Amino acid sequence: MDLRETDEQSALRNAVAKLGRSFGHDYFVETSKSGAKSTQLWKAVGQHGFLGVNLAKEYGGGGAGVYELQIVAEELAAAGCPLLMMVVSPAICGSVIQSFGTEEQRQRWLPRLTSGEMIMSFAITEPDAGSNSHNISTQARRDGTDYVLSGTKYYISGVDEADAILVVTRTGTDERDRGQLSLIVVPADAAGLTKSVIPVEITAPDKQFNLFFDDVRVPADCLIGQEGDGLRQVFQGLNPERIMGASIGNGIARYALAKAAEYARGRQVWGVPIGTHQGVAHPLAHARINVDLARLMTQRAAWLHDEGDPLAGEAANMAKFASAEAGMAALDQAIQTHGGNGLSTEYGLATLWGSMRLMRTAPISREMILNYVAKHSLGLPSSY
Ligand SMILES: Cc1cc2nc3c(=O)[nH]c(=O)nc-3n(C[C@H](O)[C@H](O)[C@H](O)COP(=O)(O)OP(=O)(O)OC[C@H]3O[C@@H](n4cnc5c(N)ncnc54)[C@H](O)[C@@H]3O)c2cc1C
Repeated sequence: MDLRETDEQSALRNAVAKLGRSFGHDYFVETSKSGAKSTQLWKAVGQHGFLGVNLAKEYGGGGAGVYELQIVAEELAAAGCPLLMMVVSPAICGSVIQSFGTEEQRQRWLPRLTSGEMIMSFAITEPDAGSNSHNISTQARRDGTDYVLSGTKYYISGVDEADAILVVTRTGTDERDRGQLSLIVVPADAAGLTKSVIPVEITAPDKQFNLFFDDVRVPADCLIGQEGDGLRQVFQGLNPERIMGASIGNGIARYALAKAAEYARGRQVWGVPIGTHQGVAHPLAHARINVDLARLMTQRAAWLHDEGDPLAGEAANMAKFASAEAGMAALDQAIQTHGGNGLSTEYGLATLWGSMRLMRTAPISREMILNYVAKHSLGLPSSY
């Protein structure tokens, strides 16, 4: 066993960190608060080949894995630029289309996803189904050479920046009355699709949307993989989703701890740097240990996923849980270390609270991960 990263992985880390720092947290906050988009950064990440590191070379990707993609997301977040759409566009949509799309579909979407020319949103969550994805009711019915979609999704990220949306639909019902799901790519400007912004208290350039599908018609060649097999297929994207959520949390935590350590080395109120006081130093050291544990879990999950190991599902859930908890504690302690300055805009910590706190709720909630571990890892009976 060798837990050291390869020279290529280290070089990727350094190159992404350099690019992220050239934009920095001020850029991220300014674009977010002005209502602008982080398009310039997104395109730069794409042009450097970092967006599609996990996708195959024949589609413009880097031919590496989710391990490398989580390096990219972590380093950008550690530079103060947590790009939440990385969870969605290259990780979920890219992985699913590469695994289950036809050759024509891969050529249609993947090269533009990897270059950053195109963004794809992902829509599974519904107001009436929530965490219970079996219960989704957005329907896609076959009509001649088309599918016709009707229903509602909520909290769908970045639809105003996206060219298309990978929509999880119901195309049938099994004998246990659970939805048979299918994955359909819908153009973001399709007739009959309306979007309304859900205002949220997160300082990030990406907006969240309610989506209403009112008989939205798309050609049948927008179906990814087999009709009715969407649940199995979407899992190919959900492990990367969780790993990417974890890596963004890890990056935010590193950013926060670096700022806190710098501040604690310099700030003096009793004639010595505040970092001299163990009441300041120990919580930061504790947070650092927990963040490193979460990073190790995340790296292990990414490695298992890239190896095609069935343990990747459990590991990805655990990594996402660990990262959210460790990251929130680290950011909170970094804010505390800064005293009043911790809440200022200038010190760039409170501006990350929304993005960090989100990781406890999405893309899968803390409780649903605990349900998964209780059931699958401990063999406990399920309450639902
Ligand atoms: C900023 C943001 C961006 C998002 N982006 C996307 C996106 O791009 N695409 C997308 O599809 N979705 C997205 N989501 C949705 C997100 O994945 C869901 O909000 C999340 O999965 C929880 O679903 P819910 O909000 O319906 O909560 P609910 O399912 O209503 O749950 C409410 C609470 O009850 C708990 N709970 C529910 N069932 C159980 C149970 N059986 N046992 C224990 N506790 C339970 C939950 O953990 C939660 O704490 C986003 C959400 C946010 C806030």
